[in-house]
Amino acid sequence: MPRISYVNGRYAPHADAYVHIEDRGYQFADAVYEVCEVAKGYIVDMAGHLDRLGRSLDELRMAWPMSRAAFEIVVREVVRRNRVMNGLVYIQVSRGVAPRDFLFPAGGRSSLVVTARKVNPAINAGKAEAGIKVITVPENRWDRVDIKTVGLLPNVLAKEQAKAAGAQEAWFVDADGNVKEGGSSNAWIVTKDGVLVTRPADHGILRGITRTTLFKVAAGLGLKVEERYFSVQEAKEAREAFISSATTIAMPVVAIDGAPIANGHPGSVVLSLRQAFFDVAEKRPA
Ligand code: PLP
Repeated sequence: MPRISYVNGRYAPHADAYVHIEDRGYQFADAVYEVCEVAKGYIVDMAGHLDRLGRSLDELRMAWPMSRAAFEIVVREVVRRNRVMNGLVYIQVSRGVAPRDFLFPAGGRSSLVVTARKVNPAINAGKAEAGIKVITVPENRWDRVDIKTVGLLPNVLAKEQAKAAGAQEAWFVDADGNVKEGGSSNAWIVTKDGVLVTRPADHGILRGITRTTLFKVAAGLGLKVEERYFSVQEAKEAREAFISSATTIAMPVVAIDGAPIANGHPGSVVLSLRQAFFDVAEKRPA
């Protein structure tokens, strides 16, 4: 069965799904995106992801390409046409196609691309069993990373650097030595007292949808969450560390810059969050 993608008003075979060379997403990274997890045939936390997409569009004064109701139908249709039971759906809205000019095009129409693909859930389950390693890198992104734009070159380079160091994620660190977030995830620790700590979602990080759901999961498990800054040093001495994102849920971190966290194995708190996540998250059939 060929993959089907949605591009500017039509469902096309993935291999033939193109955008124009003067699409502003291509030329200026003038585009925003979302990634939703698909699990057991459900799109996870779709409302939260589309709310955040709306916020990103508003911040950049970009128009929705269609009504939200129609948008939701397209997203679900792409998942359905690709028969994705477990995997992800990717949504990208750009300011559209216009002759190259820095200024917003007058009366331009934003463009929409939606793709979906299957991911074997055993891959993430295996990663969660082993835990992942992270490295730390100095923050070098612009200060509006609360907007989910496709301008991800620093993230690409940081994650390549992590890979070269035998790690799977890079944590951006601010000038004071505090952890911000990962290249494609939020960063968390668990203190010796069992308190979850993650950085406040000010303009310095992306307000992860998974992060928000994990607050509810933690409350349900009777766990306390503190939104505060934490340093690389505090993270290295923590009882547990983990990352969160739509595609990884809560994923244990077992080493930071080569130093093992606690006994170097995934912690019980993150595994219990991971276990309970799907009971709490919003689930919309595709
Ligand atoms: N931070 C960054 C930089 C990200 O790219 C992502 C996800 O892609 C996240 C955090 C986690 O966000 P979410 O939980 O909504 O996937």
